[in-house]
Amino acid sequence: MKILISDAFDASLPDRLKKFGDVTDDKSQVADADVVLIRSKTKADKAYIDSAPKLKLIIRGGVGLDNVDREYAKEKGIQVHNTPEASSVAVAELAFALMIAVPNRLVEAHNSMKAGQWEKKALKRTELMGKTLGLIGVGRIGTVLANRARAFGMHVVGFDKFVTYSDLVELKTLDEVLAASDYLSLHVPLNCDTEGLLNAKTIAKMKDGAVVINTGRGKCVNAGDMTEALKSGKVACYATDVWPSDPPPEDYPILQAPNVIMTPHIGASTKENLLRIGDQVVEIIENFKG
Ligand code: NAD
Repeated sequence: MKILISDAFDASLPDRLKKFGDVTDDKSQVADADVVLIRSKTKADKAYIDSAPKLKLIIRGGVGLDNVDREYAKEKGIQVHNTPEASSVAVAELAFALMIAVPNRLVEAHNSMKAGQWEKKALKRTELMGKTLGLIGVGRIGTVLANRARAFGMHVVGFDKFVTYSDLVELKTLDEVLAASDYLSLHVPLNCDTEGLLNAKTIAKMKDGAVVINTGRGKCVNAGDMTEALKSGKVACYATDVWPSDPPPEDYPILQAPNVIMTPHIGASTKENLLRIGDQVVEIIENFKG
């Protein structure tokens, strides 16, 4: 069995996979690969799948499968697996970090100190305690974040199209969540329902001066509409880890918008998570009956 490691995984993984066969990270060998391991960089679209005639198994280390043409893979008899359990804590901790950075003015405080300024008077902070966090998507990551937010004394509400019960999150309609949230955090997969879910119309239903955190997918937010909302102050801050592509195009409006906090899609990239993803990859290959 030839295993192609096409994206960044934990450095220990090649050795751990050797017992299954030949392991390479040389992408030019895709035509010989029986198994490919991808994260978000490799796009397993039709052309990619066609370039790998021996392929039997695609493993996406991570959650979202929007970079895999699952229907075409199925047509070709290729199994597709992801590692959905592994990343929840890593992503939820980044969402929390982005959220708590905003009322504490961490980025402005750091940047002004670096610039030799002493903005003690100007940098007024607020607290998370007593504020409402709204979740769009109450799945694994949303629930882990809810747990942490409640420990900080936040009230947590959420909208999920399919989840009907949560003991941590007060489930509401989308409009109710938009109206109630001081902080709104996105945790839905990217699909035809969720693309552009946050747009001028839905943003208008939010509280004035709310904060939006996005560790879900960049395309769930209409970037032009969000930029306008940031300029007008309707949204006080947009803190995002996710982009329409990695990296985003240079003219992506969010890059130049005011009051944004940005990270380069590092939600899943903790050392611990890469080890957990590695464990799941080994388990999937062990159980694979091609
Ligand atoms: P999950 O499947 O456990 O939760 C997603 C939830 O969204 C589910 O409860 C589902 O019912 C709900 N949902 C689906 N469609 C919906 C819709 N149209 N409206 C409302 N709710 C809807 O997934 P998860 O592990 O919590 O991950 C959520 C998303 O986070 C992933 O799909 C991925 O896009 C993103 N993610 C980002 C990173 C990162 O590095 N920033 C890492 C991992 C995952």
